[in-house]
Amino acid sequence: MVFYVLVAGLQARPTPSDSVGVFEHLPGGEANLAPLPGHEKEQKTVVDVLEVRATKFFRAVGAGAGLEDALPMQRTSALLLLAVPSELTLESLQTFLGADSGLVEGIEAVRVLYRHSRRTGAFSCPSLEGKCAPGSGNSGFYTVILLCRDQAAADALYKANHGRLFTSGRESQSSSAGKAESRSGGACCYLTFLEAIVYDFSSAEPSDQMQPNLARADSDETDENLRNIIPSTAYELPSCPVCIERIDVSGTGMVTHSHGWISDDVQNGRPPTCRACAVIATRPATDRPAKRGLSCTCCPKEEDLWVCLICGHLGCGRYQDAHAKDHATDRRHRFCFQLATGRIWDYECDVFVHRRLVQQAAASGGRYELALPAPAISGEAAASGSKDAASTDEQHLLSMELDAILASQLDYQRSLYEAQLTELHQQHGEILEGLKAAREAEELRAQNWQAEIEAAEKHKKVLEKQLVTAQRTLTEAQEQLGFVKELNQSLVANRRDMAKGKKGYAESSSGPAKEVAEDPLLLRLREQVTKLREKVSAATDG
Ligand SMILES: [Zn+2]
Ligand SMILES: [Zn+2]
Ligand SMILES: [Zn+2]
Ligand SMILES: [Zn+2]
Repeated sequence: MVFYVLVAGLQARPTPSDSVGVFEHLPGGEANLAPLPGHEKEQKTVVDVLEVRATKFFRAVGAGAGLEDALPMQRTSALLLLAVPSELTLESLQTFLGADSGLVEGIEAVRVLYRHSRRTGAFSCPSLEGKCAPGSGNSGFYTVILLCRDQAAADALYKANHGRLFTSGRESQSSSAGKAESRSGGACCYLTFLEAIVYDFSSAEPSDQMQPNLARADSDETDENLRNIIPSTAYELPSCPVCIERIDVSGTGMVTHSHGWISDDVQNGRPPTCRACAVIATRPATDRPAKRGLSCTCCPKEEDLWVCLICGHLGCGRYQDAHAKDHATDRRHRFCFQLATGRIWDYECDVFVHRRLVQQAAASGGRYELALPAPAISGEAAASGSKDAASTDEQHLLSMELDAILASQLDYQRSLYEAQLTELHQQHGEILEGLKAAREAEELRAQNWQAEIEAAEKHKKVLEKQLVTAQRTLTEAQEQLGFVKELNQSLVANRRDMAKGKKGYAESSSGPAKEVAEDPLLLRLREQVTKLREKVSAATDG
C-alpha cells in the first residue's frame, strides 16, 4: 500500500530540490523546479513555509502490505508528517524530530504546508478559520513533507518519531513537572512514506464546501498530467489527524494512537480541526436528535445523520433517503461517521471501520476508558509525574506496535484469502464455461429434434389432405355406383318384363317373331346398357 498527497491551492513555488521529479510533481513539468545545471548538492536543509488551500491525502492498496522490522514494506525517502499542532514552532518541531541526535541532517528539504481557511458555507466553526501557520495561536495543525537525502535517513526518522506524542516531547524539553504532564494522550506524530506529492496552484476558493460537485471542479482544474500520478484506484483519507484516528487501521492502513489527537480533543477541549470534527463536536453525550439542530444537507431529515469524514458533508442514512451514500458514491468519499452511535461505515467495502475504542467512547457518552493496564509506577507520588508520563507514552507506543503487528497479520491473511478467492473464482469460471458448452450442445440437439418434428408434421398434413381427397372421390364413386346399380336393376327388370312379353307374343303369333327380335327399341336399349356398363366399370376403377 502506498500513500499520495495532493496539495491544492499552493500560493508560491517550492524551492528547487533534488527530489523534484522523483516525488514532487508540479503543473507545467518539473523543469521549473529542478536544480540549475552545475548546481552543487547543498548540505543545508531547505525549508519552505507554504500557504495552501487544502492537503488531500490518498492511499492505494496493492501488493507488499505488511511490516518489516517495524517499518512498512513499501517505503520511499519522502515522508509525510500528517499533522503538527499549530502551537509548535518550526524550531521546536526540529527539536522534537531529533535535532540533538542529528536525525534532521538527513532531511534535504522541508515543505511546511499550512491552511488559511476562511469562513465557508452555512455551517461555520470559529476554530476552522484563520491561519494554521507554525507557532501561531491557532488551535489547528499544519502538515509537513520531509524529503530525505536517502532511505536510511527516512527510516531513522520514521522509527524514532512515528507514534510519539508532541506533548510529551514538549514537556520533557521544558522539564516542568505539573498537572499537565500526567495526562495521557495528546497530539501525536504520524508519519507515512509518500509515493508522490502533487502540487496544484489553482487558487479558486470554494464558495461553499457543501457543494456536491466541488471535488470534480477541483480535479478539473488540476493538470491532466498531474491527475494521472495519483492512480484512480487510490482513495482519499481524511487529512485531519483526529478523523484518521477514528478509523480502524484496516481502513487507513495507518497505525494510529488509540488516544492521540482524539483524546486531546475530548479531554482537553481542543477545538475541532476539520469540518467533520466540528459537526461531530455538536453531538450531545446522549442521543437527542431534536435538540441537535442538524439536518441532512440534501433534505430536511434530522434522524440517522452521517458525516463524511473527508469533507464534513452531512447526509441521511440508507433507511432515510440515503443521501450520505449518494455523497459517498458521487465523490468517492468512502468513510462516513454515524452521529448517533459514533460508528464509521466504509461505503466501498460495506463494513464498519471505526476503532473499537471510539465505539466504546460513543457508548459511554464520549468518555474514553483506556483499555491499557495502569502504569506500574502510577502508585508513586505526583512528583514523579514526568516519569509517569514517559511510561504511559511507552505503553502507548507498545499498544501501537501491537496494532501494527495485528494489522500486518490481517493484511497477510487478507492476501491469503484473496488468493483463495481468485482461485475459486477461476474454478467457478471454468465450471461455468463447461456447463455453458454442454447447454449449447443440448440446445443444438433440441433444435435438430424440433426441425425433424416440424418436417414430420408437414408430411402428416400433406397425407391428411390426400386422405380427404381420396375419401371424397370414394364417396362420389360410391354414389355413382349406387345410381348405376339402380339403373341396371331397373333395366334388368325391364328386360325381364320384355322377355315375358315377347314369349307371350311368340306364343300367340309365331309369325312376326323375327321382326320382334329386331325391334329397334330393344337394340337401342342394349346399346345404352353396354355404355352404362363401361361407364360403371370405369367409375369403379377410378
Ligand atoms: Zn477531523
Ligand atoms: Zn448531499
Ligand atoms: Zn437526506
Ligand atoms: Zn465527503
